[in-house]
Amino acid sequence: MITAYVGLGANLGDLRRTLEAALADLADEPGLTLEAVSGAWRSAPVGCEGPDYLNAVARVRTTLSPLAVLAALQAIELRHGRERPFVNAPRTLDLDLLLYGDESIALDRLVVPHPRLHQRAFVLRPLLELDPALSAPGLGALLAHLPAVADQALTREDAPLR
Ligand code: AMP
Repeated sequence: MITAYVGLGANLGDLRRTLEAALADLADEPGLTLEAVSGAWRSAPVGCEGPDYLNAVARVRTTLSPLAVLAALQAIELRHGRERPFVNAPRTLDLDLLLYGDESIALDRLVVPHPRLHQRAFVLRPLLELDPALSAPGLGALLAHLPAVADQALTREDAPLR
């Protein structure tokens, strides 16, 4: 069993409903157990256009290989009607494999830890909410990266995701 972290983001449609449906899909995925979910964090888009994002991070336990987890995430994205008309286009649902145990993976299709994990407050803050002591290969203690993203506007919503 490996502990992995999945980043969830939505910025089109009913954001909260999309994230909750994606979490339900994750929980239903064979070989994967949904263990904990961060709060919902609202942020302005980085490097793309469109309305605000709603983001969260899920901790899962899994017997799946990293590529099998990625395939599962991409199948869930498709189920929620993600279209990709251009690079960084607004999307209904974006799922990223942030961490897979303490493994470093550098394939064409899969880079773990996610290469921009430590540069994005909307990933770091929900991750640290789930485990403030979390560290990642190549990055060390994730808490140490928070000051560098302190200027990124982000608000935590009061209502938890279900
Ligand atoms: P994005 O548009 O940011 O969701 O990027 C999707 C592409 O990134 C897909 O082609 C994936 O194969 C690739 N990718 C590389 N590393 C990861 C990762 N850790 N999690 C999700 N997608 C990844």
